[in-house]
Amino acid sequence: MYCVIRCPGCRSFTYIDRFQKWKLCHVCGEVINTGKATQYIEVADHKDAEAIANQLERHLHATGKKDLTPAELQKLRADYAQWVRNQV
Ligand SMILES: [Zn+2]
Repeated sequence: MYCVIRCPGCRSFTYIDRFQKWKLCHVCGEVINTGKATQYIEVADHKDAEAIANQLERHLHATGKKDLTPAELQKLRADYAQWVRNQV
């Protein structure tokens, strides 16, 4: 499993292996403590994690928002669960 998280330093989205404790931010170079970073969604594949991270980045850029609302986060997770079910 992979988790989509956000860098606390520069707020860019990235992803980690679920058991990874630290990640170097590829944008600002901050060492992210993954236990403290907000976890947006857990996905099975790192390609999905990367796609969702990019999608969230574009979404916030397009809407001019600073973060997802709880409703948006819930929808993201529901959409992903639905998508996974459709793959089987
Ligand atoms: Zn960063």
